Amino acid sequence: MDLTVYDRRAWRIRLTLAVGLVFSGIVWYLADFHNLGLGEGRVSWLVPAAMLVAMLVIGVYANGLIHELRHHAVELGEQHALLRRLAQHDPMTGLLNRASFIAALEERVKQSEEGMPVALFLLDLDRFKVMNDVFGHAFGDAVLERVGEVLRRDIGDGLCGRLGGDEFAFMLSGPVSRSTCEAAGRRVLQALAAPTSILGRTTQIEGSIGVAWSPQHTMDRMDIVACADLALYLAKEEGRGRVACFDGELLKEERYRRSIERELRGALLMNELEMYYQPIHSADGARVTALEALVRWRHPVRGVISPAEFIAVAERSSLIEKLGTWVFTRVCEDMADWDDIKVSINVSPAQLKGRDFANHVRDILASTGRDPRRIAIEITENILMDNSAEQIADLNALRALGMSVWLDDFGTGHSGLSYLREFPIDVIKIDKGLVQDMRDSADNRVFVSTIAQLGSGLDRRVVAEGIETQDDLVLARAAGCSHVQGYYFSRPLEARNVPAYLATANKCSAAA
Ligand code: C2E
Ligand code: CA
Ligand code: CA
Repeated sequence: MDLTVYDRRAWRIRLTLAVGLVFSGIVWYLADFHNLGLGEGRVSWLVPAAMLVAMLVIGVYANGLIHELRHHAVELGEQHALLRRLAQHDPMTGLLNRASFIAALEERVKQSEEGMPVALFLLDLDRFKVMNDVFGHAFGDAVLERVGEVLRRDIGDGLCGRLGGDEFAFMLSGPVSRSTCEAAGRRVLQALAAPTSILGRTTQIEGSIGVAWSPQHTMDRMDIVACADLALYLAKEEGRGRVACFDGELLKEERYRRSIERELRGALLMNELEMYYQPIHSADGARVTALEALVRWRHPVRGVISPAEFIAVAERSSLIEKLGTWVFTRVCEDMADWDDIKVSINVSPAQLKGRDFANHVRDILASTGRDPRRIAIEITENILMDNSAEQIADLNALRALGMSVWLDDFGTGHSGLSYLREFPIDVIKIDKGLVQDMRDSADNRVFVSTIAQLGSGLDRRVVAEGIETQDDLVLARAAGCSHVQGYYFSRPLEARNVPAYLATANKCSAAA
């Protein structure tokens, strides 16, 4: 706000007052001493005296008024500045809010055309939701404030923003290259990861960063956000705590993913998916104790697409919930014709994160009339690592119905042995890679037998996956696995071939 106008007015009043005073003085002097016919005796000086007093009063009043107005103007200016700041900044972190950050980014992207490149960094905190769930919202807020502090300190005001939730962004102008961006991103991650006390708890904040820059990658403010977002996804996929830069290949992969996603949506509607079932045997090979349900997509042009490929695509969109529902329902329907055999269904972390998973499963069981005790769900370790109260509650609710929970691909992730004790796990499935590695070294055999012993010590069944040969079977038995599964026994079977397989296997075991 321009305050000089008030100061100028105050000075003008003071000047007018001074001129008026001098003028009244002159009039008084002339009227009194030179008797200019303005009146006789006492009356003659009353007029200028009254003028003088009136001038004084008006002048002082006007001066005060101007000062008051000036004061209001100052207050108004401060309020305006505060409102502007509130409208542009995120109140919790003091960083620019989404709209202001994007506006500032737009400016920089425009400037990049004139030879001042700009790099956009998207930062996403790892496992923020877990921190919130475990330590409470006040702790979560304090973590966000701390991120704001670090970004303001290391990057500078006006260059960093909070885009929402635990998503942050910052931009750096100047010469950009993959190495400079990676280094800048890593510096920020290191600053965040430095141990600090938050609400009395020593904490290290971890995050992942995706970077894209203009003009090289794009000259559009929204495209640059999309490019950095793809890179961020890659950073997380590569194992969190990383900085990933955008490149053209990512865009190609994204286009491929999108086309698969579109077609998968259609495939679900057109019933192009099929369920296959792979038998799981007792370690002596005799009995079939369960079947693992595995989904297949018979694409009219591309042929059979592996679930390893399309499940990952579905997980990135809401499609995974639809796919999961389709799988669960189809399995429950297929099971109608098979005596008492148990079937395990793979459930991806994204499905469990969906709302109300347990209730949803309960509804499917009710509508198909299946006994929950005949169904197991296979989950992977990362569900347990996320340690979300809701997901654990869902798992417990399913167990309370009578379903069992199996831990799949054990040995590929962190293999936290503590999970086995703490979480409601009934069966451990040792990853096929680990099982097959037993062929090569004694160390791997020790590793598998340690898991198997631990499992049996905790009264859990242990399945060795990926048994392809007689030798694999011998090694799995020697390691102490109670169950086995793999091509040696059978490849996944079409539903219509399951009864015949079960009948033959059971006949063999009865004869044995
Ligand atoms: P997974 O759960 O670890 O399933 C085992 C995979 O190993 C299956 O591959 C199976 O066909 C394959 N396999 C079985 N025995 C052998 C063997 O002796 N040697 C070798 N080399 N491989 C063997 P598939 O069917 O391609 O499934 C791949 C992954 O896709 C599965 O890994 C699972 O994570 C996921 N998946 C499959 N069906 C579903 C589903 O219905 N829902 C969800 N969420 N994920 C699924
Ligand atoms: Ca599995
Ligand atoms: Ca597995």
